[in-house]
Amino acid sequence: MTSPIRIAPKASRLFALSNLCMFFAMALFYYRSDTVSYWHWYFADMVFTFGFCLLRWGGLHLFKQKLTYQTDMIIFSVTILVMLLIPPQQTYAPYLMVVASFGASLLFFFITKDNFKAMRKSLSITYSVMLTLPYMLATLFFVSRFLLLLIFANNLALVEALTTLKSPIVLWCYIGFILSINCVLFGNALTRLVYKIHKLAKKDQLTGLWNRHALMTRLDLVDALWRRDKQAYSLLLMDLDHFKGINDTYGHLGGDAALRHIAAILQRSLRKVDFICRFGGEEFLIILPATDAEKAYFVAEKIQSQINQSALKWQQHTIEVQVSIGYATIARGISVEKLLQLADEGMYCAKQQGRNTISTLTPAQNTTT
Ligand code: GH3
Ligand code: MG
Ligand code: MG
Repeated sequence: MTSPIRIAPKASRLFALSNLCMFFAMALFYYRSDTVSYWHWYFADMVFTFGFCLLRWGGLHLFKQKLTYQTDMIIFSVTILVMLLIPPQQTYAPYLMVVASFGASLLFFFITKDNFKAMRKSLSITYSVMLTLPYMLATLFFVSRFLLLLIFANNLALVEALTTLKSPIVLWCYIGFILSINCVLFGNALTRLVYKIHKLAKKDQLTGLWNRHALMTRLDLVDALWRRDKQAYSLLLMDLDHFKGINDTYGHLGGDAALRHIAAILQRSLRKVDFICRFGGEEFLIILPATDAEKAYFVAEKIQSQINQSALKWQQHTIEVQVSIGYATIARGISVEKLLQLADEGMYCAKQQGRNTISTLTPAQNTTT
């Protein structure tokens, strides 16, 4: 349903296909009898198992998890191959169902694990359990069916109840099972959508860096950590030199390309723990956790020299970009706002010194380097 409006189209298609497989397999399952029928026994379970594989792949696509077909294909192939050794008719139902239940248990175990892991990234443990519950119950159902049929293979009434859809209760259980799985899929798609919107609201569209909205949350967090651990952090405020000139010479598209180019250099050169944000038009702000003033200067120098050494090739032009950097390091008695102001003043100082320079200012003294 969500595929036409391009919400996780690949995952949506896999989920739809999985549903089709499950309903088709149910229809075949319903008409099972004691006559030998590969179509109603063997093929039905094959389609069911493949439907579960599709369910897993859809989930992996939806949450951008590492997609591996290998494990599922091994489970699917082994299940199907072992089932080939057993005649496809009601007399052998317990054995056929033991094999099918074992394969389904393994697949649902992986589906449950993947789903819970994905949910925990954006939801609390309670909601993650709630949205994974139908998968957990499905795993439990297949494990129980596997064990019951293995232990009580001679109990005809139990075998009948577990291996046919003739009883309305069993039929409704299966329908409920498919419906609850679809509720999970709907919840998953919604969670993914909300997560995406949240993320987009914090990202700068042009460069893909964090935007100013995300900055304050991160800055407060890093500041709280410094107050607890006493490991100073630093800010770098970087402004592109004569950027108006770049826009005037190469047009706005050239200017945009220059901004993306700088963003890529920053992402390449900094650590994973550093936070890079597009602070304004052609200004970038970087939070360097656990970095004192000396190290901050070293980082600023590294960035500046990388930018100076890598001119942008854009269309037929070579665009030289230079930056002025101001930096400031946290110290006792300095608030987050004051630190931002210090980095800003440092940057203006660098501009005054002729641009393509690095400068810092402390509250006590004006130091330029
Ligand atoms: P200075 O060395 O003093 O920083 O000079 P400057 O020309 O870089 O400074 P100024 O702040 O006057 O110019 C910034 C320009 O950046 C003005 C604005 O049109 C341009 N700008 C802001 N955002 C964008 C954007 O997203 N794309 C493009 N292409 N240009 C932008
Ligand atoms: Mg500026
Ligand atoms: Mg500028």
